[in-house]
Amino acid sequence: MQASEDTNDDFLFIDDSDEDEIVEDAGKDTWKVLIVDDDPEIHSVTQLALSDLIVLGKRLDYIHAYSGRDACQLIEQHDDIVLVLLDVVMETDDAGLTVVKHIRETLARQDLRIVLRTGQPGYAPEESVIKDYDINDYKTKTELTRRKLVTTVYAAIRSYQQIDTVTQNREGLEKIVEASAELLELHSVHEYAEGVLTELQPLIACKSSLFCARGQGIVEGADDLSLYVLGQFGMSSDFKNQKIDVLSDSVIQQQIKSCFQQKQHQFNEEYTCLYLASGGYRAVVFLEPEHELSDIDKQLVEVYLTNISVGYENVHLFQKLRNAAYKDWLTELPNRLEFVNLLDDFAQNKDADLVAGLIDINHFSDINDGLGQDLGNQLLMSVTTRMKTIANACQFARIGADVFGIIGPKSTVNPDTLSELFNQPFSAGEQHLPISATFGFCEKKDAGPRGVKVLNQINIALNLAKKNNQQHFAYYKQEMEEKTLWRLGMIRQLRTDFADNRLELWYQPQLSLSTGKVTGAEALLRWRTADGNFISPAEFIPLAEYSGLIIEIGDWVINQACQQIKALEHESFEQVSISVNVSIPQFKRVNFVDQIIGSIKKHQVRPHKLELEITENILMDEPQVVVDALKKLKAEGISIALDDFGTGYSSLSYLKQLPLDRLKVDRSFVNDITTPGESIIADTIINLGKQMNLKVIAEGIEDQDQEAHLKAQHCDEVQGFYYAKPMPSVEFLQFLKDNK
Ligand code: C2E
Ligand code: MG
Ligand code: MG
Repeated sequence: MQASEDTNDDFLFIDDSDEDEIVEDAGKDTWKVLIVDDDPEIHSVTQLALSDLIVLGKRLDYIHAYSGRDACQLIEQHDDIVLVLLDVVMETDDAGLTVVKHIRETLARQDLRIVLRTGQPGYAPEESVIKDYDINDYKTKTELTRRKLVTTVYAAIRSYQQIDTVTQNREGLEKIVEASAELLELHSVHEYAEGVLTELQPLIACKSSLFCARGQGIVEGADDLSLYVLGQFGMSSDFKNQKIDVLSDSVIQQQIKSCFQQKQHQFNEEYTCLYLASGGYRAVVFLEPEHELSDIDKQLVEVYLTNISVGYENVHLFQKLRNAAYKDWLTELPNRLEFVNLLDDFAQNKDADLVAGLIDINHFSDINDGLGQDLGNQLLMSVTTRMKTIANACQFARIGADVFGIIGPKSTVNPDTLSELFNQPFSAGEQHLPISATFGFCEKKDAGPRGVKVLNQINIALNLAKKNNQQHFAYYKQEMEEKTLWRLGMIRQLRTDFADNRLELWYQPQLSLSTGKVTGAEALLRWRTADGNFISPAEFIPLAEYSGLIIEIGDWVINQACQQIKALEHESFEQVSISVNVSIPQFKRVNFVDQIIGSIKKHQVRPHKLELEITENILMDEPQVVVDALKKLKAEGISIALDDFGTGYSSLSYLKQLPLDRLKVDRSFVNDITTPGESIIADTIINLGKQMNLKVIAEGIEDQDQEAHLKAQHCDEVQGFYYAKPMPSVEFLQFLKDNK
């Protein structure tokens, strides 16, 4: 049936369609349509005409206004109106046009679709109005047959939806651009993972979401191909850095895994799994959206992912760079640079219970040189693994070849707990190596304000601990630093004074107990500073040893002693020998033996006139090197005496290997020798010397009673203030002459 197009409103909307091809399956949602007309009948007829209409899966829902004014109000109240069917002539001739202006200008709603209708053809708005105000259609009511109305409404709503899509897309894209900019700022994979989820939120509101990827190189200790949670949003518990197996919902686990394996997005009603890949770096973003995703949502999310995936690759590369800069390549622990950063945090931390420390493996270079670097590396790995077992609360670092850093609570970072780690041997390849370590500590209360400072403080403590033969650890104290400064000043002074010939070699006579004759002298260094004061060798010899200056000084001493022997020969004291003290650093020098032999030859001295005094401690470091050197010297005819015997820690089995000529009983044992019951050590040493076929000399004799006791014990020789104090060369010559 055809509707009359030129008759009155009664014929309006006569059904002219045989079939309604526009009807589709309707969902729950509706399109809100505002009908504006001062004629109530138009309302009902319109509604009737559109009653079955479903546009893009939604039915229509109507609001009614009977004047322009009402219409304006309703539009303001309902921002979900998509279409206005608007009468032009109502309370005024242009009431409808006023509504149009209100919509477009006052409310600035460009998306809302408008169809103008009028009963009177003469009231048609000008073409410019239709163009400027984006009017979808202008029809006289008589033109609008039902079919035409349906088509008009259908077209208008479709165009609304397209505009809406474009708007949403534009907004979505703006958000994506914004999000990408935000994500650019993030430099760690973890931060990025969390960032991706947070930045996704304005785009797609989610109840919860996860960012999952393989953990190698990102999650500490991740050494397999499992997927780990790197970031999470809206989760009830903390899954971060754990395998996805911890997720209670196995469906979710499965979905994440299959998305990763199949390398494609997976959408279902409840969950969405998005696949992210760039440059070989792959991840899955799991979402539980608040609403099912629309097609636009899906498109946007895909654009978002493509946009950020390059960022994901970058952040990995950045992390790699960071790792290279801040991680130790072997153990993957933080390196020195990063340890300084950790110490920065330590310095800022309010927790007074914290301690920072350094763990230095003793004699690591021997293992490295002796057994090869590979084994050395394996040993370091073993140490790392064992260290990690002591507490999760601690932070570890490797800051040098064989030096580890640690930060943690007092209950863990202390000498006892750390020493226990080294009680059992460490495995390296086939080997089980027993190793020990030295520790330096700095407690929070003594720590400086910056990481660099703290590292320096622990280093001071460690160095002192390494020099200490009794204890293998030290805690940093302010005084240490003052002492270090003082020591450095002293070393500097010693160096210049040595260069200025301010060191002298004095001689303390040694006498035979049986004949009372001088058999030799011990050469003892004296340092006379510019202001005429003497600094005790007990004070400056350790500094000279510490700084290595003892090597040059030692050479000088040997040469002086040789000259002295020669000078004494000239004065006919051919029988008088000279003993010289030697320190550990001198022995460590490669050509030590040659140097001494060279001096003897240069001064044409008979070798047995020169005696080297070594202490037991010399054996502590590298016993075999010392024993070998002494054997060579002995083979040349040079005498060897063991000084301060009984005060050190050497094992008798090593002593037996030493090519000795004399034992020196230390002053401390001679001191109380006359107190009943206190002579036992001195007596034993004298006895031991006899058993070993060695001469025994006692030092530090200060009175006659001590001499008497030693005589009774058949001690061979003596040295002490009772006979003479150390004296300059000239005086010593005089002493010899006086005691002929
Ligand atoms: P030492 O080798 O044990 O030297 C003996 C020390 O005991 C000397 O102290 C000497 O003056 C002191 N002494 C000797 N008899 C008596 C006594 O009856 N009573 C008391 N109270 N002391 C006595 P000095 O000269 O102060 O030397 C201290 C240490 O410095 C030496 O101990 C030695 O270890 C070291 N030293 C001295 N000169 C040299 C040197 O040229 N090279 C090296 N490496 N060390 C040296
Ligand atoms: Mg000595
Ligand atoms: Mg001594």
